[in-house]
Amino acid sequence: HISKLPQVETSIFTIMSALANKHEAINLSQGFPNFKSDQKLIDFVSQAMNSGFNQYAPMAGNLELREVISKKFELLYNSSYNPENEITVTAGATQAIYTIISAFIHTDDEVIIFKPAYDCYEPTVKINGGKPIAIQMEGSDYKINWEEVAAKISTKTKMIIINTPHNPSGTVLARKDMLKLQALTIGTEIIILSDEVYEHMIFDALKHQSICLFAELKERSFIVASFGKTFHNTGWKMGYCCAPKELMTEFQKVHQFNVFSVNSAMQKGLADYLQEPKHYLELADFYQEKRDYFLSLIQDSKFTFTPSQGTYFQVLDFSKITKENDVEFAEKLTVEKGLASIPLSVFNLDQKDDKMLRFCFAKTNDTLKKAADILNRL
Ligand code: PMP
Ligand code: GLN
Repeated sequence: HISKLPQVETSIFTIMSALANKHEAINLSQGFPNFKSDQKLIDFVSQAMNSGFNQYAPMAGNLELREVISKKFELLYNSSYNPENEITVTAGATQAIYTIISAFIHTDDEVIIFKPAYDCYEPTVKINGGKPIAIQMEGSDYKINWEEVAAKISTKTKMIIINTPHNPSGTVLARKDMLKLQALTIGTEIIILSDEVYEHMIFDALKHQSICLFAELKERSFIVASFGKTFHNTGWKMGYCCAPKELMTEFQKVHQFNVFSVNSAMQKGLADYLQEPKHYLELADFYQEKRDYFLSLIQDSKFTFTPSQGTYFQVLDFSKITKENDVEFAEKLTVEKGLASIPLSVFNLDQKDDKMLRFCFAKTNDTLKKAADILNRL
């Protein structure tokens, strides 16, 4: 067969955003803000372009940017990554994830993935010859059943992918989850890919449990991050990853032939902007307000929900409204009522959770109000 991914179709994000555009619906589907990022950041990038940051950046990324990323890990987690050889700037988190998986996954290696899972993990494992091993998270709070994880770890397990705060559910892993993961993999060579793109969007005084806080895990782990999420510029496709030197060396062997290096001016602009930690520290309050505003508007609707603990997504249960499944309902809501969302079952095993929709609240209050008016009329 000519296709390496015969089962893969156009991603749900592309489908729902296209449907929203076609029907001029309010788009709370694909995760991106509908407001402009800080003018200061845009000015830094434009200054960088004007002052000559227009040729290839170093393969691992602009050194000033790597240094300021390294400082962030010290400030927030008291954890050190050497900017010289333990950090690489990437074209968004997606490229980091793809490159990590292609650097380490051999034919028939098993990769444990928790469902519902962000959509790029599984196809990336498959295209590299690996075998995704799916574990469904349980209950309305999407808990990981660590006994099941223990049972599914085998000599073929090469990697475990975790994501906290979690897209699409908005749940966060607790310290005790991380300790379980550590206990289950201690003494093995299992690599942890920790997708932490929503690290700064965490609510209700919960603390982000970065993998770098757990020494035994850190030495076998990659952290993946995204500036698109953090600074409201998803279209810039800028991110980075960190790992101990031995792992990062392998990553860079692939990265140099995958993209070689990424956008030079934006790296310099981000390096200048990141000098002030408040630019990422204020994000939690900013998005908690948006979550609270959105939920206060729909508290008397027929939707039921558990408030999101992190990310800029809120999952709503519509089982009191219709018996339709989520894919049908999401389509109808877009086409007939003018509001686009993401059905959750597409991220799950066996189409589970087919009464849930994910809404992105990274929107102006005006947009959230218009969306809530639609939800309240259902
Ligand atoms: N991981 C998760 C969990 C995400 O939600 C996203 C973006 N939606 C990414 C990775 C990809 O990030 P980027 O846009 O920086 O490639
Ligand atoms: N991460 C975004 C989301 O979850 C979408 C990114 C994409 O479209 N690939 O909505």
